Formats: sequence, C-alpha cells, structure tokens
Amino acid sequence: MKQLILKPGREKSLARRHPWIFSGAVARVEGDPDTGDTVAVRSGSGEFLVWAAYSPASQIRARAWSWDEQERIDGDFLRARLRRALDARERLISAEASDAMRLVHGESDGLPGVIADRYGEVVVLQLLSAGAERWRTELSDGVRELTGCACVFERSDADVRELEGLPARSGVLYGALPAAGVQIREHGLRYGVDVAEGHKTGFYLDQRDNRKRIGELSEGREVLNCFCYTGGFTLNALAGCAASVLSVDSSAGALAQARDNLGRNELDAARAEWQEADVFKYLRTLRDQGRSFDLIVLDPPKFAPTAAFAEKAARGYKDINLLALKLLRAGGLLASFSCSGGVSAELFQKILAGAALDAGVEASIVGHFAAAADHPVLLSFPEGDYLKGLLLRRA
Ligand code: SAH
Repeated sequence: MKQLILKPGREKSLARRHPWIFSGAVARVEGDPDTGDTVAVRSGSGEFLVWAAYSPASQIRARAWSWDEQERIDGDFLRARLRRALDARERLISAEASDAMRLVHGESDGLPGVIADRYGEVVVLQLLSAGAERWRTELSDGVRELTGCACVFERSDADVRELEGLPARSGVLYGALPAAGVQIREHGLRYGVDVAEGHKTGFYLDQRDNRKRIGELSEGREVLNCFCYTGGFTLNALAGCAASVLSVDSSAGALAQARDNLGRNELDAARAEWQEADVFKYLRTLRDQGRSFDLIVLDPPKFAPTAAFAEKAARGYKDINLLALKLLRAGGLLASFSCSGGVSAELFQKILAGAALDAGVEASIVGHFAAAADHPVLLSFPEGDYLKGLLLRRA
C-alpha cells in the first residue's frame, strides 16, 4: 500500500481540513509511490486521514483529494469535483456580466493545483501540481465533456511547476483555437485574449468586478492606470467617461493588446495615452514633471508568492503607493491592489498607512476590493485569499 505516515501531532492541519501536507510533517513513505500517485495519509498511530496526491520534489509533499476513506480517486471522482465546481458558479456570475469565467479555482474547489478558465468557447487548463499532472487526460476530458467547449488549451507553464519538478508545457489538448483569435466580453466591453502567450491563462479574471467599480468612479476624472496589462481598468475608465486615462506597463506586447482592445470598443481613443515604462521609475518622472491625477490604479504583479518574501514585497508596495499618493489631487482616489499571497490584508493596510505617513498625506479607506466570486476562498484554506485591494481617498 502506498502511504505517508505523519509524525506524531502533525495531523492537526488535516483535521482542520487544510489540504496541504508539508515535507516536515512526514515521518515515512511506504510502498514507493511515484510522483502524482494517490497515497493514503495516516497519523503516527495508523489512523486514516486523507487520500492525497504525492509530490516528492515539492515542500508541499502531498495535497489532499478527499477526507473520505471510501472514496476512490479516479476519473469519476474528478468529474464529480468538476461538476461541483461548475454548479457552484451557476448563479454567481450572470452570463450577461461576462462570457469569461474561472470554472475551477484549485484547492478552493477541492481540486488542488487545477485551474480552468473559460474564455467563450475556449477553456484554458492549467495544471500546477504533481497530482493535477497525473490526471491530465481525465481532467481535460472532463472539462471538455462538462462544458461542451470547442477547445481545451493547456497553459501548464507557470513558475510554480518547477517546485513540483514538472516541466513547462503549453498547447492545444482538444479541438483548435479559433482562427480569428479568442474574444470575450466583460461588463459590456470586448477584449481579445491571447491564451497562448498572455499572462496566467491570458486574462486577469479575478479583477472583473473591480474593473467595473473603477469605471463607475471615473466620470470626469483624470486617471492614471499603472500596470495596465491589456487595458482592463483603462477601458472601464473610458467607458465611465473619464476625462483622460494614462496607462503604463513595461510590456510592449501587453500595451499592443491593450491598444487593440481599445479599438474593439466604441470608446474615444483620443482620451487614452499609453506609456511603455517601468512604473517604479515612471512615477518619479511624473512627480518631477509636476503631474497630478484624480484617480490612480496600482495593480502590480505578485511581489511575494509566499510570506518569506513579505519584507521585500512591502518595500515595493510602499514605494509605489507613496509616490502615487503624492500624485493625487486633494479628494482624489487611489485603488491599490496586492495579489501577493505572502502579504496579508492586514499587512497591506499597514504598508499603505506607512506610505501615507511618509508621503505626508492624510487618506481614508473608502472601499475594499477582493477577487470576483468565481475565485472562491475555502475557509479552511486562507492561502486562497491572495487578492486584496483598498480604495483610498486623499483628504
Ligand atoms: N490590471 C491588469 C492586470 C495587471 S497584471 C488587468 O486588469 O488586466 C500586472 C502587469 O504589470 C503586467 O502587465 C506586467 O507586464 C506589468 N509589470 C510588471 N512589472 C512592471 C513594472 N516594473 N513596471 C511596469 N509594468 C510592470
């Protein structure tokens, strides 16, 4: 029998239904399991705890599939979990809001390491753990059958795969990508999504509702959108009748797609200005030019994947937020985000407080942001709560 026996007392987190078993908790491995194999995890006294996927290369040595000893981990099990994930979303995101949605959100949907994002007729599958990789065919088949999509495209090329000892892989698993490219609609706006080369699976679906909110706050305002990627906040600000939007990103490819996205919508391109630059430097340039704005969005990439990077990340967040607060006019708004799992909401708020203090600016929290409803956070898996944001108003 393939099994992991835990050290005495190390069954506590599983008892709280946290799905990860760290290497330090394992006393011994029996039955010579291969990477991705299903193992029974037992306490030091031999009691069954969970069925889990074994990952010998990773610090997260196993991820729990099920707490039920009677369960068999196979294609039917995975299909039932996929079905459950799809059902859970049925009433959360209206078809009117968007035809793009996260269908499976890893651990929080009981499918550790599995991400599936729907973009119209295309589903992008991302397998991030040894267990997910082991069931690649079954997961792809299940997604195809349950969604009836025309194409399943794999984007298993995220950095975290290295930690699991898995190679990067990307390409079509089923069907073919539409010749005209993938296009989605979200809150009345159209976007092209580069599922093959774009970030993550192509689009930041988690910011859907926050983009809309920024649109609602934009009327008549001069907006600065930092880390604009393919223009999500920019387009919403323009649709919300912003006076002007200056959008900044260091990626020429993202800016090209953003411009293209602007062209897909009936928006006034004359009110949009694009800048290819490093935001850390460009905010200083704007300061030196004496520029100021009514609404600033800061949506940087992940600075801290885990808590170990929190201190370095904190310096980065403080820097850009301090500069942004200085560029805000009195009464102006700053929408500041962090998608770093290693930076808690509490720490993020402290960082912004420090930034305001050092900027010599008084500001208040007038709103909170989180990921959209198709990115659930399982209460027993707080790590899933990675995206946080605050809306600040400068006095
Ligand atoms: N707000 C976007 C998502 C932002 S993703 C949306 O709603 O879709 C983060 C973006 O930051 C990426 O496009 C990346 O190219 C860009 N980026 C990363 N580091 C940067 C830097 N130092 N300066 C400017 N842009 C940067």
